[in-house]
Amino acid sequence: MRSAVCPPKSALAFWAIAGRMGVMVRHGPFSLVLSVLILCALSGCVFRPADRHRAPARPAALPNNAMMRQCTAELTRMGAAFHVLPDKREPGGCSAINTVLLTGAGARITQLRATQCPLARNFVAWVKGPVQQAARDIYGQPVIRVDTLGSYACRQVRGIASASLSEHAFANAIDVGGFGLADGRRIAVLTGWNGSQQDAAFLRRIRKAACRQFQTVLSPDYNLAHRDHLHLDMGRGPYCR
Ligand SMILES: [Zn+2]
Repeated sequence: MRSAVCPPKSALAFWAIAGRMGVMVRHGPFSLVLSVLILCALSGCVFRPADRHRAPARPAALPNNAMMRQCTAELTRMGAAFHVLPDKREPGGCSAINTVLLTGAGARITQLRATQCPLARNFVAWVKGPVQQAARDIYGQPVIRVDTLGSYACRQVRGIASASLSEHAFANAIDVGGFGLADGRRIAVLTGWNGSQQDAAFLRRIRKAACRQFQTVLSPDYNLAHRDHLHLDMGRGPYCR
């Protein structure tokens, strides 16, 4: 399942260019559909995998200073490297409220964006606990890097305006693509899930542990859109596949 997201700014730019080029767009159902298709093709639409398991539309989280104080204190106690981000609301209902930018949890964490603090806290607990334990048991060495595919992303189901937003649209989901081991080896979800016995065992073991830590966990077993990552969120659940 793939979704198309048309950035409004590039759409406006397209119309400006189209106007200068003398492109005529008449009103009517056919020309409207054609216009949207042309606009999407030329205005830099981003096509990317969508998470099929999504929470229905809901209001953004409210700023919660007391919760943030407690949550960030726990992150510090767990030895996480992070800083608090300002609250952000975007058009279309997306928001990143009560978030941190997490860059380390014992291991280096790459490419994360805004992440709601409770999700970040559970992620740190997962990495420092079951992920490191599985790495030591299976590979005899620690994980030194967790390669994510990001967290906050303002996106909807299949790009349909009326569809509900992904947990990513609330900074409430993290996608993990792979892990780096101390000896330089990399375990990727894409190649490891059905790869060597070691990699397959490691990835299934940490998925099972993730199902105890997060509300929703989606792996390559869920669908093709998740063939290259584990989706971890603190939305509705529990759902584990
Ligand atoms: Zn995801």
